[in-house]
Amino acid sequence: PTTTRTGEPAEIDPDEMDPDALKVVLRLHQHGHQAYLVGGCVRDLLLGKKPKDFDVATSAHPGEVRAIFRNCRLIGRRFRLAHVYFKGGKIVEVSTFRANPTELEPAPGAATDEASGEDLLITHDNVFGTAQQDARRRDFTINGLFYDAAEGRVIDYVRGRRDLDERFIRTIGDPEVRMREDPVRILRAVRFAAKLDLDIESRTYAAMEGAVEDLPRCAPARLLEETFRLIRGGVSAPALKLLAALDALKLLLPPVDEYLRENGKEGEKTFYAFAQALDKRVSAGEVLDDAILLATLLVPIGRTQPAEESQDEGRASVAHVIEDLLAGFVEAARLPRRIAERCRMLLLMQRTLSGERRKKTGAFRRHPLFNEALAVFAMTVEATGEGREALDAWQSGEVPPQRASASGAADAEGP
Ligand code: ATP
Ligand code: MG
Repeated sequence: PTTTRTGEPAEIDPDEMDPDALKVVLRLHQHGHQAYLVGGCVRDLLLGKKPKDFDVATSAHPGEVRAIFRNCRLIGRRFRLAHVYFKGGKIVEVSTFRANPTELEPAPGAATDEASGEDLLITHDNVFGTAQQDARRRDFTINGLFYDAAEGRVIDYVRGRRDLDERFIRTIGDPEVRMREDPVRILRAVRFAAKLDLDIESRTYAAMEGAVEDLPRCAPARLLEETFRLIRGGVSAPALKLLAALDALKLLLPPVDEYLRENGKEGEKTFYAFAQALDKRVSAGEVLDDAILLATLLVPIGRTQPAEESQDEGRASVAHVIEDLLAGFVEAARLPRRIAERCRMLLLMQRTLSGERRKKTGAFRRHPLFNEALAVFAMTVEATGEGREALDAWQSGEVPPQRASASGAADAEGP
């Protein structure tokens, strides 16, 4: 609730603010600059949630910020930001007020790109501006709120308070324009909707549908990062459902899209059961690395194979499916090879864990990824209800039972 009983907007209790972020703001003030807490932290505090990090926006230019703080480093080549370091590895990110280049008249000397009427994609975003312009260049109204620590009040240039109260995600400005100039915002809207349990306002949603086709124009690294942020946030099931409804999965996670199309209602049920098992763990605070997260979502897809094949051929075909699956991710989404390789091992190890394939269990247990593979298997058991016996055996250090389909001697090579 962001309003009090008297109907007045609830303000933020300064005690909830990060003391180091407040120090940064006050130091900037002392040097004659404007400075506010911005973005996610203001939104989360008004929603009664604990912010992940505290960001500061200021009128000071990056070089000026650098000169004020000793414990500070400038990062980013184009979009220069200051990171101010505190004890315990904490970082307060300080960015200079910026304007949306497409909203500006090309000013003399300002390095804005020629904004042609049709092509809205932002390719250059490093134009300094005022506090108000900085609020307006942000993606959603709920993300455009500033907190003035000196006055102890929220500054709302974008009607973000209203949308927080009414629990809507709405772009700042024309949704068509804002989605086309940066289609990654589709993923961001989906993440905030799923994570904060907000509705997407209808014109914003329509603009998201319209901009889906532009997703391939975004930098693959940004798409991959925002996709992982959905999964890491413990909301992969609702978020991927939203992305499926937007028909965006075919561009973001083609193998998942294909699997869902080919396997109908049953496939959907299976896939989202895996996503939910994953979300449950992440929400409970378990920290799972990106390879485990991805591997868990790919288990149902990696298992698809012709049923009548002999064990050897079956094994070869599963290995191929997994190989192709991950090669596709490396190529199309630029998934780092290191993560792809870990993910591939985790998926291959599932057949041994399930008892489908025999291994020398002693050596298998000593595999460097054994615990990670077992975590993926535990989620499989939770999602499918199958394999409980094998899981118990592995967890209690016994020799797991062999599945009837597995025959022949234990083999030592491979995972
Ligand atoms: P979280 O708590 O999940 O980190 P956040 O709101 O802090 O959410 P960030 O990705 O950390 O999200 O971005 C910080 C702020 O920068 C956002 O609140 C938003 O104001 C702005 N922002 C981030 N990405 C974009 C974008 N693609 N377009 C416009 N503004 C953006
Ligand atoms: Mg953030």
